[in-house]
Amino acid sequence: MSLLDIHVLGSPILRQETERVETITPELRRLVDDMFDTMEAAKGIGLAAPQIGRRERLAVIHADDTRLVVFNPELILKEGNVRGEEGCLSIPEVFADVTRFARIIVRAQDIDGAVYEVEAANLLGRCLQHEIDHLFGKLFTDRLSLLKKRAAMREWEEEKIYYPKLLRVLPVGDLPPERASSPRGAVPGDAS
Ligand code: ZN
Repeated sequence: MSLLDIHVLGSPILRQETERVETITPELRRLVDDMFDTMEAAKGIGLAAPQIGRRERLAVIHADDTRLVVFNPELILKEGNVRGEEGCLSIPEVFADVTRFARIIVRAQDIDGAVYEVEAANLLGRCLQHEIDHLFGKLFTDRLSLLKKRAAMREWEEEKIYYPKLLRVLPVGDLPPERASSPRGAVPGDAS
C-alpha cells in the first residue's frame, strides 16, 4: 500500500475540471486502493482524484457505512435542501455549514466499469455532492456566503503555513493498525 500526498488549497490542480475515465486500467485500480488507504489514514470520508494530483473523474467514499468507488459520477436527481457542517482533507482544520441537496441519486461506474445508481441523503449524500464538486474544480468554501468565506479563509491563512509546498504528507504512523500489514482486499464497487 502507499499513502498519497494530498494537495491543499492553493494547489492549481484542485481548480481543474477532471476528464472522463473511458478505461479502468490496472493502474487505476491500484490508485483506487491507494486512495482508500489515504482517505482512511487522513480520517476522511471521501477523496477525489484532484486531491491527490490526478486528472481522472474519480472519487472514493466511505460514509454512513457505505463504501463507494465513483467513476464519472453524475447527479441525476436532486431534491430539497439541507444545511450541515463540512470540512475537506484539502483545507485542514477549516469547517463551515454548507447547503446541499437533501436527497440525490447519483449515476456512476464502479471499479469494473459497470454503471450503477445510488440514492443518498444525510452524510453519504453530502459527501457525494462534495466529491462531485471536487471533480469539477469546486471546493466547499465556494458555496459559502461572502462573509463566511472570508472567515474560513482567515482560518486557512493560519493553517496553510504548515503546508509550504501545498502538499499534505501523511505520516505512516497514522495508518489504521488492522490495515497496515494486511494484504489488499478487493474494493467493493456497489452500494450494498
Ligand atoms: Zn474535499
